[in-house]
Amino acid sequence: MKWTLSLRLWPLWTPLVAEPLRYTIAWETPPRYTYQVRLQCRPNAGRYTVVALPAWRPGRYILQNYAGAVSHFAAYDEAGRPLPWRKITKDSWQIENPRQGLLQVEYRFYARQLDAGSSYLSPELVYFNPINLLMYVVGRLEEPCELELPSLPEGWAVATALPRKGPRKFVATDYHHLVDSPFLIAPFLRSDRLDCEGVTLHVHFWGRVGVRNLQPFLQDLCRLFQVQKRIWGHVPLKEYHFLYLLVPFSMRHAVEHAYSAMFVLPEEGAADETALRSFLGISAHELFHLWNVKRLRPAALWPYRYDREVYTSLHWFTEGVTDYYTSLSLLRAGLMEPSEYWQRLSAELTQIENTPAYALFSPAELSIDSWLAPSSYRPALYQGSFYAAGKRVGFLLDMSLRRETQGRVTLDSLLRYLYRRYYLRGKGLPEAALEQAAVRLGGPALKDFFERYVWGREAPDYEALLAGLPLRVEVTQKPYSGWGRVGILRYRAESEGLRIEEIAPGSAAEKSGLETGDLLLTVGGRPAKDLTPAFWDSLAEGAQLQLSWTRDGFPLEATIPLRSAWQKHIWIEPIEDDFLKSY
Ligand SMILES: [Zn+2]
Repeated sequence: MKWTLSLRLWPLWTPLVAEPLRYTIAWETPPRYTYQVRLQCRPNAGRYTVVALPAWRPGRYILQNYAGAVSHFAAYDEAGRPLPWRKITKDSWQIENPRQGLLQVEYRFYARQLDAGSSYLSPELVYFNPINLLMYVVGRLEEPCELELPSLPEGWAVATALPRKGPRKFVATDYHHLVDSPFLIAPFLRSDRLDCEGVTLHVHFWGRVGVRNLQPFLQDLCRLFQVQKRIWGHVPLKEYHFLYLLVPFSMRHAVEHAYSAMFVLPEEGAADETALRSFLGISAHELFHLWNVKRLRPAALWPYRYDREVYTSLHWFTEGVTDYYTSLSLLRAGLMEPSEYWQRLSAELTQIENTPAYALFSPAELSIDSWLAPSSYRPALYQGSFYAAGKRVGFLLDMSLRRETQGRVTLDSLLRYLYRRYYLRGKGLPEAALEQAAVRLGGPALKDFFERYVWGREAPDYEALLAGLPLRVEVTQKPYSGWGRVGILRYRAESEGLRIEEIAPGSAAEKSGLETGDLLLTVGGRPAKDLTPAFWDSLAEGAQLQLSWTRDGFPLEATIPLRSAWQKHIWIEPIEDDFLKSY
């Protein structure tokens, strides 16, 4: 009976044509930073087919408008006859369908941006993130895709997590899978792999690698994988690829994907085995995303929509909690000393407590505002990060769950619960689900926690939140010294003066009207560039200071009394070794 029923239903839901969407990416020799892209597919039903390029990419929640790099757009029928088309939005094109046969779209994509989410082309490097340059057919993101690389020279190395079907052909289950798979292609890539807990971890390096043996690095990655696997209690894949693009400048950037992670890192980090350990932290962060955000994902991002801003108040969780677990993974894997862990955590909390942005914008607000950031309309003092805000919430949420349940429930338990309840049931994480789950596992006090510190903007009461846990907590006020005394925390020397980069809130410098971005020229008639930290330490409290500076070229000045700026200091460390065992 069932068999007959399913046979009858079959023609209703199967696609009319099982043919995949066929993409081709080609590049000229010698390259001129331009990829030639072609898409061949059956047309949509009706008169038109609309193709579009994503306006943003998962992992960076800001409009990037990749269509700006497109030129030479053209559409043809299967026989190569031109089809009429019109551009209808900044990143979509409407094509008149052919009378019969397939539809073909061609265009060029200018690729000269080098970061972990971009595309680039040079004689020795073919690097692309398909999400930058492959258009989707509107309404058909779930159809299988094929990607061909006709320009790929024989013998060149290709690193990607996308399954290979031939020497120059790759296959994807759908558009989401296709564009989630960056490609690193070169005459030579330094690659190695390690079987770890039933999963093959691959590393691929492009650039100067001084390291002779990559196995110790892979073993460290495996330790991190083991730690993270224990947290989530589930491994959703068999292969995972770390793609490292090494550059001769100081860039540190990475993007997570479901089966791989893409990194752009300074080449000195791969000079030897010791230096290579500097890549472990950023690698641990992207690896953790394999679960958090690539699989356990806010419902607003499930499935991804690429044509507009997609709002979620949960990026403090997707990024900040991932950052919390980055350090914690290193600690648990034995790759970071406990003393360094607590010293770093204390320093990061201290930094947040002295940045006014976190008293003005809640972690939930900062998550929504990711689409604004960095906003040139907001003064630097008010620029907050959902990474930092979320890391603070992550630590305090973990401690609150432990405090309320005498250590029976931790943030690990909450992650496992959410992963099973949502991802493993094929669902996205609703906006309120995290709070509900925390209350369910940790009790009613967690409701108050979310009100104050996730939806609200309260400064945490560390002593109260960590009470009863075997942690020493010190919250103190300390005066700044040197330039910090007047409230200038960071500056950059320029030919005429000092470019102000960070000012302490409530400090004399802030009260004088000086702002981030201003060029400080003189203090008491002396060139600011000549002043040392000792000058500031030698001044008496209340001394009159005459400052002169320029803003956008306009001269400004003020005279104010020196009042030393103070900083709130947070220090947290465990007082029992047992705590570390359970942490
Ligand atoms: Zn991240």
